[in-house]
Amino acid sequence: MQTAIVTGGAGFIGSHLVDRLIAAGYSRVVVLDNLATGSWENLAGHPPEVVWRVPHDICEPWDPSPLAGQPVDLVVHLASPASPVHYRRLAIETLWVNSKGTGNALDLARHFGARFVLGSTSETYGDPLVSPQSESYWGNVNPIGPRACYDESKRFAEALSMEYHRRWGLDVRILRFFNCYGPRMQSEDGRVVPNFIRQALSGEPLTVYGDGRQTRSFCYVSDEVEAIWKAATLPGLAGEVFNVGNPEERTILSFAELVANLVGVPLVVKAEPLPEDDPKTRCPDIAKARRLLGWEPVVPLEEGLQRTIAYFRQRLTV
Ligand code: UDP
Repeated sequence: MQTAIVTGGAGFIGSHLVDRLIAAGYSRVVVLDNLATGSWENLAGHPPEVVWRVPHDICEPWDPSPLAGQPVDLVVHLASPASPVHYRRLAIETLWVNSKGTGNALDLARHFGARFVLGSTSETYGDPLVSPQSESYWGNVNPIGPRACYDESKRFAEALSMEYHRRWGLDVRILRFFNCYGPRMQSEDGRVVPNFIRQALSGEPLTVYGDGRQTRSFCYVSDEVEAIWKAATLPGLAGEVFNVGNPEERTILSFAELVANLVGVPLVVKAEPLPEDDPKTRCPDIAKARRLLGWEPVVPLEEGLQRTIAYFRQRLTV
């Protein structure tokens, strides 16, 4: 009986990871989630004895006695609001889940002698002064700005994870996720992918913030999950940090054009102010993931967007 624990496993990336763990042969996944931004509906395909749905805020320690005497070999810590709209609304909760919550998740990994995978973020690079960003770049982060609740707490989470590795030899692997998209994103989470798709499908103008020349690179969720799987299972990666993202960079304006084209509507843009501290550029250097994980994204943006549009089309009409 192989068991993994996934915090935030009812969320967008988390639920896809749970699918992957079960498909790969895990006989049980314990999902700890307080549903701040996730939903049990995302796990609907799994029987409850295989995927445990445990309503729990990881800011409080989780009592592992229901798993007494049973081996747990993997803890993946993904619990955190991740969209700018959600982490602004839940700013203090975000700070706590990435600090106290990371400590509690690390303690669970220590308790079981399990490997620990931290879901971190490209936001640790802030508004980067170099592009593309490699793991050796230390970032350009405003510690008191509106994004600090996320950026700084993820940086703290990385630091804490590394100290558990150094002091106790915990097998820690850190993944910095760049923009990820796909089915099970929430249509109202405020991120550019669900916003543009929802707006295009309902015949509204696409809200482009600023001049639209800021760049992002978008990774389809199945590619992202494959990287997590490899980072979680390959030997000899303790203490390593990896960028996980798609290095194909584009401007937000050209992304709006692409979404409108794929939905089949003319592009109508509504300009809105650029949010404070919105990074001007973001593009991962994935040389390290290619080399050590043998991983790179394989789903082309148009194909991933078609699948995502189909998902939202269905959700928005029911
Ligand atoms: N953005 C936009 N219109 C929207 C939502 C977002 O132009 O309706 C821009 C946002 O300013 C940012 C980029 O799209 O430059 C990506 O934003 P998102 O919230 O998806 O994630 P971020 O990469 O900022 O964490």
